[in-house]
Formats: sequence, structure tokens, C-alpha cells
Amino acid sequence: MINVVLFGPPGAGKGTQAEFLKEKYQLVHISTGDVFRFNIKNATELGVLAKSYIDKGQLVPDEVTINMLNAEVDKNPEAKGFIFDGFPRTEAQAGALAELLASKSTEVTAMVALEVEDEVLVKRLLERGKTSGRADDADEDVIRNRIKVYYAETAILKGYYEKQDKYYGIDGVGSIPEITERINAVLDTF
Ligand code: AMP
Repeated sequence: MINVVLFGPPGAGKGTQAEFLKEKYQLVHISTGDVFRFNIKNATELGVLAKSYIDKGQLVPDEVTINMLNAEVDKNPEAKGFIFDGFPRTEAQAGALAELLASKSTEVTAMVALEVEDEVLVKRLLERGKTSGRADDADEDVIRNRIKVYYAETAILKGYYEKQDKYYGIDGVGSIPEITERINAVLDTF
């Protein structure tokens, strides 16, 4: 099994790259942001709760997010591996993911991190906001808060996976195919 944590700040291109990687490596793509948005659209209890955080650019609480992720993984018992996109975002989530995968006799293979500087992220997200319909892409203050939350709560995971020799930083600036190639060069070693 290959289990990839696709990592990087909001706007780094995780979702875009996940679409290519899931085809090439036949992996199940789980984007926690997409699952939350699906629940918001369908006005589920989870969606109503998640929306109150997402619209402010804050993280949904760990317990809620971890339970949801576990359920998504369990929906795919035949998976050859997973791309985790937007998860984990805290150390508690990283611990929960390790436990979940260990219970299936597997582990995180690699964290592939798309590295992009902040001002490029803000520009990309404002551009995406013109068509994405996402409230959290439409407002520059919310975008900047998401980037702030990334540094405050999520960026430490780089060290978490570096300690396990699983961190692979990728230059996230360039054309989409160029970046896909850079990621493939890492994943082809497994
Ligand atoms: P994304 O689509 O990954 O940019 O996520 C959009 C929003 O969903 C984030 O700004 C958070 O509010 C929420 N979210 C997504 N994934 C997580 C996670 N792993 N932990 C907490 N909140 C999350």
C-alpha cells in the first residue's frame, strides 16, 4: 500500500495534483475539505457544525475531523492506498492517522509537501474565489487567517514526518504538469 499525505498551505495545489496522482497510482483520494463541503451542501449535522469554522478560516475540531476521516477510510476496504489531502492538519490528527493505518497493518509512506510562498497563495486563492463558489476563498481576511492557522497549527507536521524520514518537499511553483512530474519522481521511488 502507498499512503501519501499531500501537504502544503491553502492554495498550494493539493487538490489539483491529487486528481492526477489518484489516476496514476490508483489511490483513493480523501480530501477532508471536500467531505466537509459535501456535508455543508447537504445541510447535514456535520456540515452545519463544520461551516461555522470553515467560513472563518478556522480548523474544524480534531475529534470531529478524525471521526470523519476514519469513516471515509473505512468506506474503502479494497483501496490499494490513499492520498490524504488536507489531513492531517494537527499533531493530534497525525497521531490518529498513524493509529488508524497501523490498525490496518500499514502506515504513511510519504508526506509530499508543496512549497509555495504566502503572497503567491493569496493571489491564487483570490483568483480561485472568482469561480470556486467557496466563501472561504472570497474574502482576503479569511484567506490570510487560513494561512496564519496553517503556520500556527499545521506547519509543525513537517518536523513530525521529517523525524520519521518521510518528508519530501516539492517546489509548488511552476506549471501543473511540471509539479506533477516532481511529485511522480518522489512517488516512483516507492
Ligand atoms: P481545504 O479544502 O483543505 O482548504 O479545507 C477547507 C477548510 O475545511 C479548512 O480551512 C478547515 O476549516 C476545514 N478543514 C479541512 N480539513 C481539515 C482538517 N484536517 N482539520 C480541521 N479542519 C479542516
